[in-house]
Amino acid sequence: MKKRRSAIHRKDVDVKINLYCPDCGTLHIDRGWYALKPHRWHLCYNCRKKFWVSKLTIGVGKF
Ligand SMILES: [Zn+2]
Ligand SMILES: [Zn+2]
Repeated sequence: MKKRRSAIHRKDVDVKINLYCPDCGTLHIDRGWYALKPHRWHLCYNCRKKFWVSKLTIGVGKF
């Protein structure tokens, strides 16, 4: 029997965060492949600039 209701994986919480583009301040939400694989270089969909985050993360927006 699998307990699907068990607590949120701590790893997920640590990796998935709210990211804002340092250049234009737009909330960065990763999609597709990027939403599955934590990464350091994020491409802003608004200003098309890349920004670097010191640890591996996935931008999920507000939830
Ligand atoms: Zn931007
Ligand atoms: Zn990203």
